[in-house]
Amino acid sequence: MAESLQLAAESLCAFGGFGAAVISAVRDDQVVTIAVAGADRFLDAGGGSVEVGHVLGRSSPASVLRDQLLPHADRWGLLHYLPHGRTDVTHVGWRVDRDYTGSAWHPDDMLLAPVHDDRGTLRGVISLDGPVDGQLPPPERRPLLEHYVAQAARILVTAVEREELAERLRLLDVAREAMRQAARTPSPQEALTEATPGLVEGFGLAGLHATVFGTPDPASSDELLTPLGRLYRELSPGLWRAQHVAVMGRTQQLDAPGGAEERTLVRDFLERADLESVLLVPMGAGQACLGSLAFSRAVGAPPWSREERRVAQDVGRDLGRLIADSEALHREQRLVRELRELDTYKRELVAAISHELRTPIASILSNAELIGSTDDDDDVRRGVAAMERGARRMSGLVTELLLLARLDEPGRELAATPVDLEPVVREVVDLQRGVATLRGVEIDSRCESARTVGDALELATVAGNLIGNAVKYSRPGDVVRVSVRRADDEVELAVVDEGIGITEQDRSRLFGEFQRGTDPEALSQPGTGLGLAIVDRIVRRHGGRVDVASSPGAGSRFRVLLPGA
Ligand code: ADP
Repeated sequence: MAESLQLAAESLCAFGGFGAAVISAVRDDQVVTIAVAGADRFLDAGGGSVEVGHVLGRSSPASVLRDQLLPHADRWGLLHYLPHGRTDVTHVGWRVDRDYTGSAWHPDDMLLAPVHDDRGTLRGVISLDGPVDGQLPPPERRPLLEHYVAQAARILVTAVEREELAERLRLLDVAREAMRQAARTPSPQEALTEATPGLVEGFGLAGLHATVFGTPDPASSDELLTPLGRLYRELSPGLWRAQHVAVMGRTQQLDAPGGAEERTLVRDFLERADLESVLLVPMGAGQACLGSLAFSRAVGAPPWSREERRVAQDVGRDLGRLIADSEALHREQRLVRELRELDTYKRELVAAISHELRTPIASILSNAELIGSTDDDDDVRRGVAAMERGARRMSGLVTELLLLARLDEPGRELAATPVDLEPVVREVVDLQRGVATLRGVEIDSRCESARTVGDALELATVAGNLIGNAVKYSRPGDVVRVSVRRADDEVELAVVDEGIGITEQDRSRLFGEFQRGTDPEALSQPGTGLGLAIVDRIVRRHGGRVDVASSPGAGSRFRVLLPGA
């Protein structure tokens, strides 16, 4: 960069007829001299003689150029001519050491060309001083001069942009590497610890103080926070909302929130810790500010460049995302744990209550039977029969609840014996035929030998519940068709009826516990809403699946598919 700009400055001197050409770039709102051509020695503000090296690297606030010099100058195209005496600023820190006695050029005259990029941002300035002939460039020479100035300006913009890009790429590399380290760890605190060394080195930091808000980590809990830590915590949410980072330094101050008190707190800290400045970077995701990073720099370190601030902001965002993800994961894991505990509690409670109910129900049943068989009074008999029906329903419910609780017991192994479904289902059909006949329903059974692996008793419960339902929800004259067959490497049990059917809405939740259909005809039948939940649990335990097809009013088909043995 320096070389091409040096050449450009030299061309300007030689072809423009000036004793000195100085090219400066704007970096972080400071005008910094980067190329000097023509003279070897200059006069400084105090009139002392200084070498070129003294002028190179000098910086002054860009606001002086922008607000105090350019608005008062005469415009000659790109060039701005500022005759002496127009402003209070008479010196920009250097001047060609020459005697202008008798010439039109005054030592305090300035000829400047501000340099803007395509977006109109001020990127630098080209200054010419000490015309060789002691004259102001006459109008006819100005277009050529402007041509050389425009060339130098293009070189300057390219050089500045390239420099920024290189710095940005370097910093992005730093950030990416830090993030790679951070992403390897499961907890936000560890992520920050992993990311820290890379950031400290890449950004040239004296230290990095990271805080994750709302963590139970004692190092960041509110009571233990230093006043400074508390200040960072207070300021960060506002910065996050505004999508800013703040520079709080001895000289550099940018977007720094807070008032005089806060500034004093930071300044005291900087002095005590021998630091130049702190760059406060909020970490967050979406609307939420989740933490803060305080990058600190030692006394004498360079100010925070625009690129550094931009990349630091990206780091805050990336780490914020990481924190949010890891917090979400933790929340989810906690929730799963709690749900599991709740589930265990529920199962144990249901099992305990069901168990306790068994004895009193048995006692009600046996006593009812005794009274029913010995009492001749019709009213008493009717009452006792109703009591008996109720107790039987209760007994059925308790049996189903106990079965469900047992099926859900974690770690309860499934018997892995080969089971031929054909005899199992045949036996169930035989048992159900009596009830079916009473209801005027015929059972048509076509079963072939089909072997699966599992628990024969549980599979009999599946067949019993499905066939029982088919009979229960059929009308007199309907036929229930039961079949068992081998289908590829699976075994299929199908129970098809011509009964009341199930609406689509009911179908979607049938397999949940205590889910009964909403059809009034279905509800008029006794039931607990546990039968299909049991079917579903058993089939899944056996590595199979169950599906249902139905058209309301015309019947239903339940199909169980199990892996073949
Ligand atoms: P329930 O004890 O109520 O029969 P299930 O879990 O066995 O409980 O069935 C849940 C609901 O599914 C029933 O209440 C009924 O509405 C519906 N259902 C189940 N099987 C059939 C079927 N074959 N025909 C029509 N409706 C059925």
